[in-house]
Amino acid sequence: MEYRQLGETDLRISVLGFGASPLGDVFRKTDPADRTAAVHLAVDSGINFFDVSPYYGLTLAETRLGEALQGRREKVVLATKCGRYGGSEFDFSAKTITAGVEDSLKRLRTDYVDVLQAHDVEFGHVQQIVEETIPAMRKLQEQGKARYIGITGYSLKNLMEIAGKVKLDSILSYCRYNLLITDLDQALAPFAKKHGVGLINASPLHMGIISERGAPEWHPAPQEVRDAGQQIVALCKTRGVDASEVALRFCLDYAGAASTLVGLSSTEHVQRNLKAMELHIDAELLREIAEIVAPVKDFVWPSGLAENYG
Ligand code: NAD
Repeated sequence: MEYRQLGETDLRISVLGFGASPLGDVFRKTDPADRTAAVHLAVDSGINFFDVSPYYGLTLAETRLGEALQGRREKVVLATKCGRYGGSEFDFSAKTITAGVEDSLKRLRTDYVDVLQAHDVEFGHVQQIVEETIPAMRKLQEQGKARYIGITGYSLKNLMEIAGKVKLDSILSYCRYNLLITDLDQALAPFAKKHGVGLINASPLHMGIISERGAPEWHPAPQEVRDAGQQIVALCKTRGVDASEVALRFCLDYAGAASTLVGLSSTEHVQRNLKAMELHIDAELLREIAEIVAPVKDFVWPSGLAENYG
């Protein structure tokens, strides 16, 4: 396993990270024994970075990850979030965040998290995030409940606006660097480097679009983007490779992010994604994929408050 430093923190995290949202059954129902085995296999294989949130499965993912990590907590860099508690339930107030972290720690069966991030900040107002949310998170850091803090979200403009106003340790961006979109590299990555902020890239399969199973019902991407994903899947099949593995490998090669978080809840996917680390992507295949993607490349959907789109 390869490890990279997360910005200016002292955390060295695995380039392949365990995204725990599927543990909350957000993509489909998971098998209890298999999801626990998936966590154990990941840790035993050197995956040390785990990302979760109270929002995933409405606390289910945190509870299940906490159970599965019992006895292994000290081997991992554990990240959770605050401020998002439901599909449209956001509260970035100091009071809710402070109380919410206590609940997360109980579910995760630990006294501290390594990274605490305000979740999907484009659904909040920049002024509140900068003047209330982040200072409250710094207090939690002083109390030893979080080793480092940061923000997550979809809008690159919004993430940079906040990070330009207040010092952060980390930023998690999703669906902005993978086979379908690479605009993270033009905007946020140079910005994060310049400001000494650790960058985490999430959703290498574009939240399931680049997979045999395809996108879940709730996926915000339009049909053309989903279709491009399925065309990539079909093309890879004709070349005897798995599209999800190609998609992951493409992200792992990207040095602009410390880790790529892929959603995991089964031993089969942990094994396949570990295997993808050894994959070599043929240049001709990448060129053909780029041709499929060209008409929808860098497509961005609206997310959060209109003032934060971008
Ligand atoms: P993803 O692109 O990683 O896709 C996940 C889906 O792909 C799941 O259904 C999973 O079972 C499936 N999958 C995984 N490996 C596969 C393989 N080898 N073959 C076929 N299918 C495979 O999307 P994601 O789960 O949304 O993103 C990864 C993680 O990043 C999340 O779990 C979460 O931890 C984090 N994330 C955070 C935010 C945020 O903070 N706002 C947003 C998105 C993602």
